[in-house]
Amino acid sequence: MSRKKVAVITGGSGFLGSHLSDRLLSDGVKVIAVDNLITGNLNNIKHLKKEKNFEFIKHDVSKEFRIAGPVDYVLHFASPASPVDYLKHPIPTLKVGSLGSHNTLGLAKLKKARYLLASTSEVYGDPLEHPQKETYWGHVNPIGPRGVYDEAKRFAEAIVFAYRRFHKMDTKIVRIFNTYGPRMRINDGRVVPNFIYQALHGKNITVYGDGKQTRSFCYYSDLIDGIVRLLYSSISGPVNIGNPDEFTILEFAKLVIKEANSKSKIIFEPLPTDDPKQRKPDISLAKQYLKWTPQVPLAEGLTKTVQWFKVHHS
Ligand code: UDP
Repeated sequence: MSRKKVAVITGGSGFLGSHLSDRLLSDGVKVIAVDNLITGNLNNIKHLKKEKNFEFIKHDVSKEFRIAGPVDYVLHFASPASPVDYLKHPIPTLKVGSLGSHNTLGLAKLKKARYLLASTSEVYGDPLEHPQKETYWGHVNPIGPRGVYDEAKRFAEAIVFAYRRFHKMDTKIVRIFNTYGPRMRINDGRVVPNFIYQALHGKNITVYGDGKQTRSFCYYSDLIDGIVRLLYSSISGPVNIGNPDEFTILEFAKLVIKEANSKSKIIFEPLPTDDPKQRKPDISLAKQYLKWTPQVPLAEGLTKTVQWFKVHHS
């Protein structure tokens, strides 16, 4: 009888890492989640405590680590991912994207495992091309406050490709666009939890700038499906995974007020430095090679997310 496949997921107790753990476990894969918990949360994986195919290791993957036994997949998802978080933890953000990628690639090389990097639409910076295709090289300010995340992820992509070319490794890169859903931290500072919290508590909705900047929001289940299709596919990417339905932040604020049935008012606050003016994925590659398209419209995903926040944070 062949043994179960084994996946190491860094950031395994975070928003996406924990959903990915659930999905791979349901695919019959054994999961070893590694997380230092600076932005991850054990509540996200407490339902897995008794799961015999799940193991949690508290460790900072920017520091070397060993895993005993065979490993088939290494998925590097560890990183602060909200602008507020990476401004609070600039050095750990740089380290997990650089040293953390190095260490996890080393692990994958040692175990002859397939490697998947969680990269980001932030590699496109404040994009001058719209929508963003994987061929676009980006428009990033390396020394601005967001540079700690953007450049760490750009370095991570570079080192993945160096290992791929030099060590002939089997690697994949997904560029993740704005994603939302259950298990986001209510206080992580990102627009989805911020607006939902404000709407549910009758507080003012804080739109930064004039609210004309755009984002395209993907429900977590669609994103996880796209990532897993990439993991099991024969293509290496980078591949954009995100929902191309684009909204201004002002439109988004109104939608949240409606979905939460809220009386909150919209107020305007200063736009953070280097806040991208527009963002929308071109998903032709994912459509063609992964047969993937997002299924959950924003209104439906928001209803579910508001419901979840009501239960977990009221
Ligand atoms: N934003 C906002 N109000 C908030 C939080 C965020 O208007 O309370 C804006 C932010 O300036 C950006 C967009 O919403 O234009 C998305 O921000 P988020 O922090 O979610 O992530 P980003 O896409 O910038 O990485």
